[in-house]
Amino acid sequence: MPRFGSMRATPRFLRWRGAAAGPSPRFAAARAGHSLVMSTGIDSPPLPSHLQLEITSACNLRCMMCLVRYRPPVNKLSGAMRPELFHRLVEQVPELRRLTLQGLGEPLLSPYLPEMIRTAVDRRITVGFNTNATLLTARRAAELVASGVDWLHVSLDGAHPRAYEKIREGASFDAVVANLAGLVTAKRAAGSATPWIRVVFVAMRDNVGELSGLVRLLGGIGVDELHVQNLSHSFSDTDPAGRYEGIRSFTAEQALWTGADQDRAREAFAAAAEAARDLGLRLRLPAVGAPDPGGAHRRGCSWPWDAAYVTSAGVVQPCCMVMGDDRVSLGDVTEQTFPEIWRGPAYREFRRRLTGDDPPEVCRGCSLYHRTF
Ligand code: SF4
Repeated sequence: MPRFGSMRATPRFLRWRGAAAGPSPRFAAARAGHSLVMSTGIDSPPLPSHLQLEITSACNLRCMMCLVRYRPPVNKLSGAMRPELFHRLVEQVPELRRLTLQGLGEPLLSPYLPEMIRTAVDRRITVGFNTNATLLTARRAAELVASGVDWLHVSLDGAHPRAYEKIREGASFDAVVANLAGLVTAKRAAGSATPWIRVVFVAMRDNVGELSGLVRLLGGIGVDELHVQNLSHSFSDTDPAGRYEGIRSFTAEQALWTGADQDRAREAFAAAAEAARDLGLRLRLPAVGAPDPGGAHRRGCSWPWDAAYVTSAGVVQPCCMVMGDDRVSLGDVTEQTFPEIWRGPAYREFRRRLTGDDPPEVCRGCSLYHRTF
């Protein structure tokens, strides 16, 4: 049934409209509060308004820029966050206003996804997730529209099968584009303003030339927004010969912020911006250029003050930019409550270092830290 027939349709619609134009007023207030927190050096902020939960660590693809590719496969049942853990977290963070149901895995593989969305919707928590859209059949698209999920971000890093399938190993470009179009159709058929449909493009040296073609493709399909971002991390804190060797060398070769291909990237971004203007497509582009080595004083990260990431097994990490729970852990929600971890010594020390000149090792190669994301 279309959501706008329900009793709470109007408030949720209004809430979504705010989210579509930017963060909700409450979320924005939390961020404003964070600025105060950072500027005054307080290391124990209020509980976060945003949680990102890895509701599954299983994935059906092996994408070049994702750690999933470089570690053993995970079964979709054993990789799923248990519902008990999910509900406990939601209970323990009463100020929660935003839930991102997304981690290293593909959320549509979680058998508990509908229950988790329902819980968020019932509590009026803004909710959404990223998907590779390979499993986004017409039936699932209609179910998601009816579920009240606020946003869906679809990964699509090319305008043609060859470029896309080279990055997203295991996916079919034609099938994903058809599923994306099916989602737009389902939303229109339901007369629903939600979910907000954003396509996410990870810009790299090999695919940046695809960008304006993708803008034209998406303009024809009718998605709401194209969000272009850089690779998230250099993995410079990891052992070059260790578990992260594959993703580390891929990033070094492909990242636009290494300084390679900057002119080509600028041209591609300018062409995409022009095409988006012509089509009326909302477009976000990242910075072009190498990280500012003196940028620590103007770090772009507020995660440890207003949000947190929890893996499917319950490990609390500072953010979604950290792939791998062996790189940093601030606690385990199977052993402590979330508020105990949030206010505990590991988190406090992490925040203290992030505001100073000796940032945590995991932050040193982070695109958000360097404002290159
Ligand atoms: S700066 Fe550190 S805490 Fe912030 S997003 Fe990057 S890795 Fe995460």
